[in-house]
Amino acid sequence: MAAIKSKRTIEVVTGLICDKCGAEEDRAGGFVVDYTFGYGTTLDMTTVSFALCDSCLAQLVINQIPNAVFTQNGKQVTVEHAHQGFITRKKK
Ligand SMILES: [Zn+2]
Repeated sequence: MAAIKSKRTIEVVTGLICDKCGAEEDRAGGFVVDYTFGYGTTLDMTTVSFALCDSCLAQLVINQIPNAVFTQNGKQVTVEHAHQGFITRKKK
């Protein structure tokens, strides 16, 4: 039996360009939304797609999602505590 060979191009996500601020993040696994709203909802069966950098996602969550839950190492923390880690690391 002869093998059938073909060349394929594979796209690999290696980063994203933030759709809010335009910043480029060169790591995979950023915050990417590809969501279709449900039938009969405000955006009835419409798909919205966008990506956000970590900074814009943090601002969005902190400013617009009052009941968001933040955890570090499985333990719930306040947003102030989470942000303090950022400030501490930035000083080093
Ligand atoms: Zn951004």
